[in-house]
Amino acid sequence: MKRDKLIFKLLDEEQQRQEEGIELIASENFVSRQVMEAAGSVATNKYAEGLPGKRYYGGCQVVDEIETIAIERAKQLFNAEWVNVQPHSGAQANAAVMLACLQPGDKILGFDLSHGGHLTHGSPVNFSGKLYEPHFYGVNKETGLVDYDQLKKVALAEKPKMIICGASAYSRDWDYEFIRKVADKVGALVLADISHPAGLIARGLLNDPLPHCHIVSTTTHKTLRGPRGGIIMMGKDFPNPFGQKTPKGEVKMMSAVLDMAVFPGTQGGPLEHIIAAKAVAFAEALSEDYMKYIVQVKKNAAAMAKSFVDRGYELISGGTDNHLMLIDLRNKNITGKAAENALVAADITVNKNMVPFDDKSPFVTSGIRVGTAAITTRGLKEKQMDLIVELIDAVIIDPENEPSLRKIRKRVHRLMESFPLYRQKGSD
Ligand SMILES: *Cc1c(COP(=O)(O)O)cnc(C)c1O
Repeated sequence: MKRDKLIFKLLDEEQQRQEEGIELIASENFVSRQVMEAAGSVATNKYAEGLPGKRYYGGCQVVDEIETIAIERAKQLFNAEWVNVQPHSGAQANAAVMLACLQPGDKILGFDLSHGGHLTHGSPVNFSGKLYEPHFYGVNKETGLVDYDQLKKVALAEKPKMIICGASAYSRDWDYEFIRKVADKVGALVLADISHPAGLIARGLLNDPLPHCHIVSTTTHKTLRGPRGGIIMMGKDFPNPFGQKTPKGEVKMMSAVLDMAVFPGTQGGPLEHIIAAKAVAFAEALSEDYMKYIVQVKKNAAAMAKSFVDRGYELISGGTDNHLMLIDLRNKNITGKAAENALVAADITVNKNMVPFDDKSPFVTSGIRVGTAAITTRGLKEKQMDLIVELIDAVIIDPENEPSLRKIRKRVHRLMESFPLYRQKGSD
């Protein structure tokens, strides 16, 4: 086969972009070489519909071992009784959970997208808002913290079948115990979607949802630093509350209902190369090196938040407990969109983001979201957080000054040269 020069040239350009820039998108990270190697391996060639030992295809003996190891490692990492490692993404994981637990038209209660929630928690443009009847809770306008009174009030009034907690742009921890108590009052199941802080939760740096929430979903590529993908877990399996029976007439366990909702419910063949990469990433996440890493992620976020506040930036809730922060730029007279564009021109990558009670559209927004998972993988520490905020501030103060942006961009490249990513010889 002729080498596809065009695509590999573009991939080289993408690698250079990643090496040179400051990556602050809170949902991104840099995987290890061995995670990439597994993701680019021969397992991509294999069809394996079904579960280990129960496949619809022959020749699955090796991928069975790989998937079993991935499951066992994920169970160990999160202290879960049951895990399905097949969801292709976080959105797919949530689709499977909802298919397993809900009927079309059922009520769900999720965290408002414009307050930091995720599309798959009931947005009208997503399957979750089209197939089910979405209701929302948000944050308190003064404190920026999840309004648990409102959550309870809406839950008692609407009696949803499922309460979803977890977020894409919320910098504080969650009270899973409280949410479970509310759910028990109205007979709802609780889904905790820990896509963002999964790595911090796995290593005990945030509250653990598994003892309290019926089902937990996560992506594997954010703080967890694995390949792009999702998983579904349960701290403890339980008989499904919908009365679904096995052919023998016994009540099916929830794990069996969830497995069926992944395949054949919402997916076909699992991506065994990605599952291999997940297995590698789970072992990494169990290591001492990762523990040091994830502790530093949190320290860096705290240091960065402090630098922003010291420079007069308004952080939603005033700070962070995890790896990210949401910044309201209205007192800096710049929109999220303009800030994102100017920062990208200086090779500082962030994303514009709605802030709670935003008066601008999702295409413009009043804020930006910033996270430390990716830069911490490159080895940056507290000392560099202040410098990064200084560079961001210089861009935001003068976003249309092209010569100034060029100068800042050079400083960005110089900084990141000292923290090589994949170019360093012998790095893993
Ligand atoms: C990122 C994210 C997802 C979706 O993950 P994809 O892999 O992009 O589908 C779902 N829920 C939350 C809370 C997220 O942050």
